[in-house]
Amino acid sequence: MVISDHVNIDQFMAGLVRRNPGETEFHQAVFEVASNVFDFIRNKEVYHEMQILRRIAEPDRIISFRVCWTDRDGNIRVNRGYRVQNSNAIGPYKGGLRFAPTVNQSVLKFLAFEQTFKNSLTGLPLGGGKGGSDFNPKGKTDNEIMYFCQSFMTELYRHIGDDIDVPAGDIGVGAREIGYLFGQYKRLSNRFSGVLTGKGLEFGGSPIRKEATGYGVVYIMQDMLARCNESIEGKTCLVSGSGNVSTYTVEKLIDLGGNVVTMSDSSGFIYDKNGIDAGKLEYIIDLKTNRRGRISEYADEYGVPFYQNERPWRVPGDLVLPCATQNELSEAEAETLIKNGCMAVAEGANMPVEQEGVQKFIDADVLFAPSKAANAGGVAISGLEMTQNSIRRTWAKDEVHESLRKIMHDIHEQCVEYGTQTGSDRIDYVKGANIAGFLKVADAMVAYGVV
Ligand code: NDP
Repeated sequence: MVISDHVNIDQFMAGLVRRNPGETEFHQAVFEVASNVFDFIRNKEVYHEMQILRRIAEPDRIISFRVCWTDRDGNIRVNRGYRVQNSNAIGPYKGGLRFAPTVNQSVLKFLAFEQTFKNSLTGLPLGGGKGGSDFNPKGKTDNEIMYFCQSFMTELYRHIGDDIDVPAGDIGVGAREIGYLFGQYKRLSNRFSGVLTGKGLEFGGSPIRKEATGYGVVYIMQDMLARCNESIEGKTCLVSGSGNVSTYTVEKLIDLGGNVVTMSDSSGFIYDKNGIDAGKLEYIIDLKTNRRGRISEYADEYGVPFYQNERPWRVPGDLVLPCATQNELSEAEAETLIKNGCMAVAEGANMPVEQEGVQKFIDADVLFAPSKAANAGGVAISGLEMTQNSIRRTWAKDEVHESLRKIMHDIHEQCVEYGTQTGSDRIDYVKGANIAGFLKVADAMVAYGVV
């Protein structure tokens, strides 16, 4: 029986949309994977027989809970917490926690789904999950953040564990929040275990974790360019965001001779045509990490323009690295970038380029590394942090850095293997990442039978 004759992506997506009404980010993420995988598995009946795609697109479970805390004025505040455990087919659930008012079930389902394939690409035994809350950390005192984190963990702790589910940071959850969350976990469970990653170096964190995502984004850009006998040196680079991923992306670009001219936050972007150098970047890191300042302060400090409520994509540049948030680069902006001569894009944030924009880049032969490949360096080093915690050792910085470089290179090679266009030398990195990420998870699911 040729089961594939009966399978149709439109019907598959119609079913998904019917079962997950209004969850547009989740639909977008599933469609991107399904559209590549469908073709690839057309004649591989076991995946159809076992309904692999349909099963991966249904999270193992979604935990949703109330988080109560008291603000500085004594008011009782109520937020909603979530953990989406998408798949533990190849390892414990693994993925970050996001605290932002834009967090909802759709956003976390899309992130957990993406995380499943990203984690598979790293080659490490990690499943996929994601969590967070609609809590807005902006403008909160340290104490308010601590009380919120403690209340959040008071429910979450019963659903996680070093062999069950290992959360980490994401937007709005950095070193400070991980410290508070881990402190509360330890207190409730009376266990010191590697249940969270991104921890401080003093209590089980890994060297290079905070730099890993940003460095990894640049490494995959470097590999894509090298394949075309190009390099980062001397290229004008456009970066968005000014958080964890952006700052270490910029640091590595500067290191490799790139001229980074933009950075941003949710209020607008700065354009420094002379380039952000290491000294200026130090100012941003201090501003963002230690003082939690705004990128507009950079404009005042260095006398460059700040464009309020705008995004950097109308500035001409060779290399584009969106590192802030999902859907921050539209189809029209992709067209502008292509017109302005951009040659490569690497997604630092998760799904920052809208679906139609991705297609524009691919059609225009712009090298395009999708987030599940480009930003996998962070979770890869988190995986190595879990290993270090299990064996009660900390590896040297150089050793971990070398592993990061190798993992990113391997991811690039997997994309090349599965993304080479028939009869051409072109690589479709989106397709390559989707298929390579899918295969390992799918084969494990086939081995387990119907569970
Ligand atoms: P941070 O919170 O450290 O920084 C986020 C940055 O993006 C800030 O500059 C923030 O500005 C800006 N931003 C947030 N929302 C918006 C918006 N709606 N419009 C414009 N700018 C916005 O987060 P990270 O750097 O950790 O994460 C950034 C992206 O990278 C996310 O998509 C995340 O999922 C992804 N990622 C992160 C990893 C990590 O290791 N941290 C790993 C893999 C992926 P403001 O300060 O004004 O809010």
